[in-house]
Amino acid sequence: MPDPQRPHTAVGRVYLVGAGPGDPGLLTLRGAECLARADLVLYDGLVNPLLLRHSHALAEQTCRVDGPAGRVLRQDEINQRLIEAARTGKTVVRLKGGDPFIFGRGSEEAAALSAAGIPFEVVPGITAATGAAVYTGISLTHRDHASAVAFVTGHEDPTKSTSLDYRALATFPGTLVFYMGLHRLGAIAQSLIEAGKPTSTPVCVVSRATTPRQRTVTGTLADIAPLAIAADLHAPSLVIVGDCVRLREQARWFEDRPLFGQVIGIPRPEEQADETALRAAELGAQPVLLPTIEIVPPESWGEVDAMLSRLNEFDWIVFTSVNGVHGLLGRLWETGRDTRAIANGRLATIGPSTAAALEKYSLRADLIPAEFRAEALARELRPHVAGKKVLWARASRGRDVLPVELAAAGASLTQLIVYQNRDVDQLPSSSLQQIERGELNWIGLSSPSIARSLACLLTDQAKIWLGKRTKLASISPVTSAAAREVGLPIDAEATEYTWEGLFQAVITAIADKS
Ligand code: SAH
Repeated sequence: MPDPQRPHTAVGRVYLVGAGPGDPGLLTLRGAECLARADLVLYDGLVNPLLLRHSHALAEQTCRVDGPAGRVLRQDEINQRLIEAARTGKTVVRLKGGDPFIFGRGSEEAAALSAAGIPFEVVPGITAATGAAVYTGISLTHRDHASAVAFVTGHEDPTKSTSLDYRALATFPGTLVFYMGLHRLGAIAQSLIEAGKPTSTPVCVVSRATTPRQRTVTGTLADIAPLAIAADLHAPSLVIVGDCVRLREQARWFEDRPLFGQVIGIPRPEEQADETALRAAELGAQPVLLPTIEIVPPESWGEVDAMLSRLNEFDWIVFTSVNGVHGLLGRLWETGRDTRAIANGRLATIGPSTAAALEKYSLRADLIPAEFRAEALARELRPHVAGKKVLWARASRGRDVLPVELAAAGASLTQLIVYQNRDVDQLPSSSLQQIERGELNWIGLSSPSIARSLACLLTDQAKIWLGKRTKLASISPVTSAAAREVGLPIDAEATEYTWEGLFQAVITAIADKS
């Protein structure tokens, strides 16, 4: 959307932003600021798409490093795209893996912008070498083992003419990090040995560094090439050569995370999945989003809007989901009011996530049941609601435990649909294919309705892995029962009925097996 405040003749600005090596937490604050103000984001194949959550802009990928081949833009096409977008007044973020100026052709893009008279800024990023080293426990420099570090291209064939002097590299007094070198690993190791580097020099190959799919293979110059081939490593990978590789075991941390390497399906609507996916990644897992439902506004806001001016009539307002909080309070704000409209009532939530959503509006929950389910909420509300007016900000569908229980407790309950919760027709095809290939280790089921939708959305090819390569973890006994009813076997069940509890159940199940 063009900014109406800005005359359309004004030239926009381009930010060349380093996205870091993969972990979405390794973006700079400046990078996040640029993304937040972008009208267009052009990102390359090394960039973790999770970073796009910092932006509301249209995002286009310029090339892929793995997976199904998409259209790959040539460098001159990318330059042209940046220049044209800026000329139409857009704020453009060009997001590049690692650091834009380390083997990233970022300087060529900057030169093209400069020649075209487009204002630009370059935001450094954490380059793959430092990211990979830190996440594998290798210190690239070390008082006793490495006084220098060199970033080297592995792209040039050392057996042909190359600008690299392998004799100088062999005597370099520190750590060598080869970018783009995996496919030439044998030739690189051989050339270093021929130039005089000891065959026993330790080498580490790190693939997909800083992501849950990080894999590390260590060896020496003599044997690393066959070891890497046997391990079937994938791009992007880099090669670290030097004595400090030996010290890796003393400083390992990332690969020891409790869910490291686990691929976990998270069936949440896109809008909510972020936090859960990030938490899974923090525990070391690779999240795969499987949205089974979509969250959309009510068919009409008529009823909600009519109720907004009467909220202070209620003694209790009850929220049973994060979406319920945003549905009611978001609408309150959009229509020109604020939380003073609910100042008289007390607030109840079904659990800590919903309470955390209230906190975003600077509101504190008065009641969070000890057990995060509708029955417990109803039970704990019971003593407070006889003869009282209660408002429930709810979804278009869901369980009706609350109405039954609260009516029995003598409350006068008003149900207000503040969002719709609709089934999708199909799962995203890339995620479904991953399940069909048996690539998921776990799928989390976070509600009975999600269990039921998943049973319909999974193909027969996907279902053959369930309970075998792909285990199912359930958030609560109610969810487990619903899952079993539709033929989904449950392998782990949370004792605390939150996503955190579900992850803990998976961690326990893995520990029990090993
Ligand atoms: N500008 C980028 C490098 C681009 S060149 C940066 O500063 O990191 C691409 C090469 O970077 C790949 O061939 C690989 O050697 C390395 N690389 C990038 N991301 C990586 C990752 N997550 N793990 C391992 N190597 C990576």
